[in-house]
Amino acid sequence: MSGKKSKKIFTPPKENSLRVQIKFQNQALTNLRKKLLADGSREYYACLLGQKNIIDDLCIITVKDVYFPDSEYYENQSVTSLRVSGDFLRERLLEIEERIDVDTMIDVHTHPFSNSNVWFSGTDDKDEINFVNYLAEEGAEISYASIVFSQTDYQARYWFLENGRAVKIPALIKTQKVTESIPSSDLKFDAEKKIKVDEMFNRSVLALGLDNMRKITGNQKISVVGVGGIGSILAENLIHMGFNFINLIDFDKLEISNLNRIVAATYEDAVKERVKVEAIKNNLLKINPRATINALNHNVFDFEVEKVLADSDWILVATDNHASRFHIQELAFKYFVPFITVGVNITVEDGEIKDMSGEVILVRIGDRVCLTCLKRLKPNEIAKEIHPDKNVRAGLVQKGYVRGADVKEPAVKTLNSIIANLATDTLINQYTERQRDVVIQVYENNFAPAIYEDVDSVKHRNLNCGTCDI
Ligand SMILES: [Zn+2]
Ligand SMILES: [Zn+2]
Repeated sequence: MSGKKSKKIFTPPKENSLRVQIKFQNQALTNLRKKLLADGSREYYACLLGQKNIIDDLCIITVKDVYFPDSEYYENQSVTSLRVSGDFLRERLLEIEERIDVDTMIDVHTHPFSNSNVWFSGTDDKDEINFVNYLAEEGAEISYASIVFSQTDYQARYWFLENGRAVKIPALIKTQKVTESIPSSDLKFDAEKKIKVDEMFNRSVLALGLDNMRKITGNQKISVVGVGGIGSILAENLIHMGFNFINLIDFDKLEISNLNRIVAATYEDAVKERVKVEAIKNNLLKINPRATINALNHNVFDFEVEKVLADSDWILVATDNHASRFHIQELAFKYFVPFITVGVNITVEDGEIKDMSGEVILVRIGDRVCLTCLKRLKPNEIAKEIHPDKNVRAGLVQKGYVRGADVKEPAVKTLNSIIANLATDTLINQYTERQRDVVIQVYENNFAPAIYEDVDSVKHRNLNCGTCDI
């Protein structure tokens, strides 16, 4: 593995061709709507502070903070209109200018009289255009977006100046779990409401229900990073469970010694040293030719991977080293993408298995738990793994300091399968909500097979974590 980051210079796209997503932390959209819509007799307002990240044509605004004005800040508040005092807004603008982790203001208000579909009114348009012009006159380097809620739906948009004129484009709201999301009234996102579940999944519908299968087979994008012993099983599970958009990310080629565990790898693939992601993509498309499978023969540090991960609904992390997990976690928190990591361990001493175990970890932005505070990332190993000098790395491996990518670990398919299946069920549970969420699941096959929840690691995690305490 190379720690080198590849840099590609791209010309920033025109703002009007951006795909804008406003992304919330886990449960944050639910809490916001609950508070704003509790009283249906009047419009309510909230101001969100967010961070804008543009990568290629994708613009992700991550929501960091929510402010509700006290009643004295409402200059006018009725069932069809609303005015919040300039003082309240100026305080928020000052805060954005002072902070380094936010650069965007998002106005939110309700139309409590609308039951389902909702649209910005002519007055909303006028107010927001005035505000964009005000920001420009003040020379404020602050981005601006807005959301309007009805009882069930929303409409959202992102504003910018084009030749001195305020222009808007529709924005999509995204939540950590799709079960928390609400429909957009915008025609642009209308297609997402009409999802037909293919007959291939009739038996899945019987088990999980039509609504859940609609969510799974809909527009969800799942990335699998590392398609080795566990990742290849994860990928096959995803296609069988009904996911229709899967990214496979791995830089490696197949070899004969992979054939004891990589699903879909054939003897011929190994002899010809085919790239792993291509072999697995072929297998997935044979199972479901209508699915979209994106094979990225890349190191996770490559520029091309960043946008793919940022645009994912979930990342399944099946790489076998600390540096790549660390990097994926950084991107996940930057772009608010939830992820599930898997790992296995087989310790053999004097020809005897001393430990055979594995674990699955669930990380969603807003849950205040991550690999760092759970002490699942070892800073020393990351430093060594990404050491730029290949000879130094090789030396560290020989001395036994670095495990993982460069080391041939013992591996068997049965252990990998159990862990991959636990991880897949954890992902499916994000759609069906059949079970309580478990942060760490451990599987051990030593004295007797056992699956249990690692409550201790979660309880004793570092509560002042700099990574997940946003
Ligand atoms: Zn309005
Ligand atoms: Zn943390």
